[in-house]
Order: sequence, then structure tokens, then C-alpha cells
Amino acid sequence: VDAQPTFTLDGQFARELPELAVPWQAEQAPDPRLVVLNEPLAAELGLDPESLGNAEGLGLLIGTALPNGATPVAQGYAGHQFGSYSPRLGDGRALLLGEIADAEGRLRDLHLKGSGRTPFARRGDGLATVGPMLREYVISEAMHALGIPTTRSLAVVATGRPVSRETVLPGAVLTRVASSHLRVGSFQYARAMDDEDLLRRLADHAMTRHHRGTAEARNPYLALFEAVVSAQASLVAQWMLVGFIHGVMNTDNMTISGEGIDYGPCAFMDVFDPATVYSSIDEAGRYAYGNQPLVAQWNLARLAEALLPLFHEDQDQAVALAQESLGAFHTRYSAAWLAGMKAKLGLADNFDDYSATSLTGELVILLQEARVDYTSFFRNLGKAARGEAESARSMFPDPAAFEAWMERWWALEPDADLMDRTNPVYIPRNHLVEEALAAVVDGNQEPLSQLLAALSAPFQERPGLERFAAAAPEGFGPYRTFC
Ligand code: AMP
Ligand code: MG
Ligand code: MG
Repeated sequence: VDAQPTFTLDGQFARELPELAVPWQAEQAPDPRLVVLNEPLAAELGLDPESLGNAEGLGLLIGTALPNGATPVAQGYAGHQFGSYSPRLGDGRALLLGEIADAEGRLRDLHLKGSGRTPFARRGDGLATVGPMLREYVISEAMHALGIPTTRSLAVVATGRPVSRETVLPGAVLTRVASSHLRVGSFQYARAMDDEDLLRRLADHAMTRHHRGTAEARNPYLALFEAVVSAQASLVAQWMLVGFIHGVMNTDNMTISGEGIDYGPCAFMDVFDPATVYSSIDEAGRYAYGNQPLVAQWNLARLAEALLPLFHEDQDQAVALAQESLGAFHTRYSAAWLAGMKAKLGLADNFDDYSATSLTGELVILLQEARVDYTSFFRNLGKAARGEAESARSMFPDPAAFEAWMERWWALEPDADLMDRTNPVYIPRNHLVEEALAAVVDGNQEPLSQLLAALSAPFQERPGLERFAAAAPEGFGPYRTFC
């Protein structure tokens, strides 16, 4: 006998912010089949992994069989896409099913992507396909294992519905879990309604869910803004340190919580180059690796504009306050990045900032000139800290300049264990992700299972997993991702 999952799906967002929530139902799937289920995450949420696999459970995962009282909604939001403003984006193919209190009592959104057209769908078909939903699953779970704030993936269910893209592809629904789906674009949407009460309710909701301490501040809404600035500065620094390129840092894809969200045409950088772009839709390179901190700051300026009425009655003073608070982004980002770089180089946190800045600055130029595989380099440098310098040295066609750098670094007595705890062996390498996604579409789950297993403990080098640590094969590039 299959036990039906007994849990409550709250509708706090829908209740508190009805102006941003359109009640809507997920589409039925002709032939739902589980592709992948995140059992540890299911357990964290108090869901029984066993029963999620049966027909009832699949209905929950795709939103067609929800507990009584659930109020699924499509969320409204606006956004700057590649710099140009769209006043009405919203969940065109997604739904917020509701909130679940996890084992620690925190509210987590249960959310779907690919669940059918909503009133926000515009010209879209409301659907998603197996490959991209699995990419989001793989990347988000890799991020989580790397210790980087992120939305999570609970499951991918193939719907049995063919979806027309460049070719006809198998349809899928991603079941996503997040501390919320509030975005910069949510505030832009509320602001555009010219309803200060709504804007205030949205800000209060965001404070309660993510940045509780700010309610106590002298200027709570400015403190909320500062908390988002700080969370995003830290997030983007962590992306930069692991070589991650989000690919679509539009304001509707930037959270208030500070979790990474919406892993579409994203990728981890192979060869170190700040100009790296993998997304097929980013022709001008707006969201290139090296631009991400600047773009984050630009997006936060849009958040400040949306919040201005709450900062101060006098809008000139509100602007001055916002500018000052936004200025903290650079300080916060630089500090997080430098602290992270020190750890990557095996240097103690209290190591002199000035020396660390010059050491990392020189290294970054060497890496770029030699087109070195970013992830392998730092792992090899960890071996150099143990006295085996050859694997790092041999990455440079002309190693003299690198050797000079290494001598200086060596003299600082780098901590190899710290380096191994900081520099991942296994990242979702583009060629491995593509291989795993293609195999699933062909009916072979094995490469995906192996990849997920490797990525679940990214810092722990294990025998037999050598191919998951290796750089892309010669014939692989140039890589392009599609959303
Ligand atoms: P994204 O940049 O992928 O996060 O999506 C931007 C906007 O496009 C959001 O409003 C999405 O809901 C919408 N969208 C993307 N793909 C589809 C689709 N296939 N059908 C309907 N809406 C979509
Ligand atoms: Mg999005
Ligand atoms: Mg997307």
C-alpha cells in the first residue's frame, strides 16, 4: 500500500501578495516518468522518497495532484533582459505550488518549471525539455555541494509530451526548491503598479523570509537593500572563485535571498579567460565571466530604484541613501573575492591584503596568457604546495614566468590541506554535462548517475573518477549552451 505524502503546502506568498500571484493549475502530463529524484532533499523536506515515485507522488512532483488546500500561482515580475526593460514577464511556464516548512522550520518554496502556459506566457509554449531541466538539476546540485547558495532541484519528471524546439524534444518538468522566488524583478513589478502599500508589503515579506534582522534597523527598507547587496556580492564572488558563468543575469533572474537561480545557458569556465561567454543568446558578451560583478551591481541599482519610495519621503534624499548603500557592493565583493583567493592559494585569512592582491593579480595574467584550465590549475597548485610542482608547471607552455611566481608563493608556506578543501576536483564540466544529458535522452541513465555522484563530494578526490576531473578533450570546444 502506497502511503500518500502527508504534508502541508502553505500559500503564504499568494495570501500576502495577491497582486503578484495569479492562481493557476499545472497541465496534465500524458505519460509522466521519473527521470531523477533527489532523495536527500526529499527527506529534508519531510517527503517520503519512496512514495514520490508512485503515481500519486509523480502527480505532486508535476503539480497535478496537490494536497488539499494548496493554492498554486504564477508569480508576476518584471525585469531588465539584456539591459532592456520588460514591465511584464512573470512565470510563463512555471508555478509556485506553495511553501513547505523544512526540518529546521524554514519555509521553502516548492516550484515547477515546464508545467504549461500561464497568463504570463506571451508567445511561449509554457513547456520545458528534458535536457535543459536536467542541466538545471545538475548545476544547482553541484553548486549546493560546493557550498554556494543556490536553489535546489528535487526532481525531473519526463512528461511524455513532445515539445517543438529546433527539433522535437521530450518534454519535462523540473521540481525546484528555493528559500523563495522573490527577485529584483518582483520589486520592479510592484513599483510599476505605483502602489506604495504593495511595495511595502513585498519588502516586509522579503524581510521576514530572508533578512529578519533588518526589520529592527533605523531605516528598515534601506537595511533590507543593504542585506541584498551584501548577499549578492558574496554570491557573485563565490561564482567567480569557482569559474561559474550564469549566462543570463537579467534582473528577473537575481534573487532577494542571495541564492543563485535559473540555470539556463550557464556553464563552468574551462580555460581561464574573463571574456568567456557560453550562452548562445548572449551575442554581445554582456554576461561574460569577467562582467558578472559589474552586472550584479547594475541589477542592484535597479532594485534600489524600485525601493526608493520606502527609503525616504524626500526622493532626492532617498537617491543619496541608495547610492551610498550600493557603494558597499564593491567593498563587499572585493573582500569576499580576496578572502576566497587567499584560501585557494593556501594562505591564511589574515595574510596581508596588499601582498595577496598583487600575487593574485599576477597569477590571473599568467593563467590568461597560457589559457590554463582554471579548475585543474588550482588543484595542481595544491600538489605543488606538497612539493610536487610538475603538474602545475606543465600547464604553462613557457613556464619561466610561472616558476618565478611560484617561488614567491612557495616562500609563503601555503597550506595544502586548506587548498584541497577550497579548490574542487569535480565541477560539472561542459563536456560531461552534455554527455550525461544526451545519454538520458537516449535512454541511458548511467552517465548522469555517475556525474551526480562525482559532483556530490567535489573536494574529495576518489580513485576511478579521473575522467570527471580531466579538462575538456581537445576536440570539444567552442562550447555553446542553449536555454
Ligand atoms: P528566463 O530568462 O529563462 O528566466 O525567462 C524569462 C521569461 O520568459 C520568464 O518570464 C519566463 O517565464 C518566460 N519563458 C521562458 N520560456 C518560456 C516558455 N517556453 N513558455 C512561456 N514562457 C517562457
Ligand atoms: Mg527566469
Ligand atoms: Mg530560464
